[in-house]
Amino acid sequence: MTHNFELDTAINAVIKASRLCRTVQNSLVSIDTVRKNDRSPVTIADLGSQAVINLELLKSFPNDPIISEEDTIALRNHEYLREKVLELVNAQIDHISEAHILEAIDYGTREIDYKSRFWTVDPIDGTKGFLRGEQYAIALALVEDGQVVLGILGCPNFPLNHDRPEYGKGCLFAAVKGNGAFVQGLDQDKKERIHVDSISHPQEARFAEPVEKAHASHTAHAQISSALGITTPSYRIDSQCKYAAVARGDVSIYLRLPKDKSYQEKIWDHASGSIIVNEAGGRVTDTHGKPLDFSKGRKLQSNEGVVATNGKLHRKVLNAISNSRNSEKGTK
Ligand code: AMP
Ligand code: MG
Repeated sequence: MTHNFELDTAINAVIKASRLCRTVQNSLVSIDTVRKNDRSPVTIADLGSQAVINLELLKSFPNDPIISEEDTIALRNHEYLREKVLELVNAQIDHISEAHILEAIDYGTREIDYKSRFWTVDPIDGTKGFLRGEQYAIALALVEDGQVVLGILGCPNFPLNHDRPEYGKGCLFAAVKGNGAFVQGLDQDKKERIHVDSISHPQEARFAEPVEKAHASHTAHAQISSALGITTPSYRIDSQCKYAAVARGDVSIYLRLPKDKSYQEKIWDHASGSIIVNEAGGRVTDTHGKPLDFSKGRKLQSNEGVVATNGKLHRKVLNAISNSRNSEKGTK
């Protein structure tokens, strides 16, 4: 299973989308006029990024279905947003008309057979981080028979070296099933293989979790990490950059226990990140130890929460979660 053409196409698409998002985030920081509730920069970058990725994919694979997060409703009613998206997309791909852009964005909203081969796109994962000028990711993955076979994460603000911020930022992570996981600088071609860390004593581990407290239970994470003897403060970082951090060995664990039990995780929030961790030698399951099932639709309907680790710690983390659930039941 080489998927070389798919890999080249996907990397090219994510690099272009990452450049587009970077342009918008830089202008956002420099203009400094964005009011707290003005989400138009993220709307523009989100839709521009989705248009670029879908256009690139459809050029190479015109018959492949794509599941992407956004639709064109916001654009159809706002001329200003449409003009901005048109300008941003044309800076990445020449001579694209407005009609072509709208069509490409909406291509990702069609219903499909999730058991067949399809692409899934999160044009900006971590929009809150994007607006804060912090971490976000552009995520693209290919799913075949319910399993992720290729995943890319463009992480424009992610440090090239976790311990040496002076080395700069902007990473692209890529993995193809059975072929390992790699990182390259967003502005360079040189690829490097990445591996999870080899920590086997949970006390030595550090874990990552979402910044947004509505997206996962920080309280449950604190209980579990304390039961595991972890004393290092958690690494709070937006988006699938958390998976990248596990895959590169910056941290050993990523916890995502639901805050709201009825929330079902979206496939595009986990497809790319999960294959990158798996191919870097780690393990990804839900909080019950079940594999993530990408064949059920736009949501991970048969899973609850997510746990990603370096593999060596996986069983211990799942046991700690199960113990904490049992003691919670006992006190009810
Ligand atoms: P993160 O950056 O890890 O906080 O994840 C961002 C993603 O969280 C977004 O792409 C949303 O799809 C997803 N999200 C939104 N609401 C929730 C929620 N209540 N629980 C879990 N994830 C959520
Ligand atoms: Mg997302």
